Amino acid sequence: MSIDDRASEQETLWRAIALAHRKPEAPATGECLCCGETMSAGRRWCDAVCRDDWERLQRARR
Ligand SMILES: [Zn+2]
Repeated sequence: MSIDDRASEQETLWRAIALAHRKPEAPATGECLCCGETMSAGRRWCDAVCRDDWERLQRARR
């Protein structure tokens, strides 16, 4: 294994840790949590309107 491989492996690990510590109710799945639109990985909503709608929904559930 080269040093580069090890570095990217470390980066992957940090990314996994960061994801695990995110708010559990809002994982970034690559799909809009509000309308289900497919997006680039790491995003949770397709736009601010969806994000606001989703947050309102979360608050209403509690
Ligand atoms: Zn959306």
